Amino acid sequence: MNIACPQCAQVDQVQSVPAVHQGGSVTHSVVGGAIPVSYGDGNVTYLQGNYRGTSMSALARELDPTPPLRGGGCFLALAMVLLIPAVFMTIIGFLVLGDHHPEMAESPIISTITVFAPAGLLLAMVALFAGLYGTRVKKNRHLRQGTPESRELWAGAWYCHRCGGVFLPEQTRHAVPARQLMSPSTFRSYVWRAGGYPAA
Ligand SMILES: [Zn+2]
Repeated sequence: MNIACPQCAQVDQVQSVPAVHQGGSVTHSVVGGAIPVSYGDGNVTYLQGNYRGTSMSALARELDPTPPLRGGGCFLALAMVLLIPAVFMTIIGFLVLGDHHPEMAESPIISTITVFAPAGLLLAMVALFAGLYGTRVKKNRHLRQGTPESRELWAGAWYCHRCGGVFLPEQTRHAVPARQLMSPSTFRSYVWRAGGYPAA
């Protein structure tokens, strides 16, 4: 396999895309002050305050095989928050029914519906948000895995640090031209398309 860059015809600055991506992702822990964080590609940035996490260089982000995913935590929080008044209203409903108000005896079915309506409405909303949370979690799991096509395309590509472009050394089954230098963002859009993600 010829991994020489199609533009400069050199191999000394060529690195596989997964290696570039991994080299540009750093995990750091900062407590106060500003400390320099050096990325694999020579970029240095300064972080301030207490922080712990993984950050990516601009290049690593451009070569990310999966798009940033939206969490479903807000749906879960809404479901939990609404669950409290829902339980409360249900208890109140039973207490009201247990009181045997004389006007309830006239139309017990309508009275029961009226008494439990607020609780029912709240429980329906809890179910809705819990369902939305479940759907988001399932979707994210699917997206994070990508597809065999997107993983294969991503892992088989190379990056030239001198020219700042990505290329495939040989023709693959993907509709991506081989031995042709392209920008990291163009390459990423091919990968995301192969992974079934929305276009970059
Ligand atoms: Zn090159």
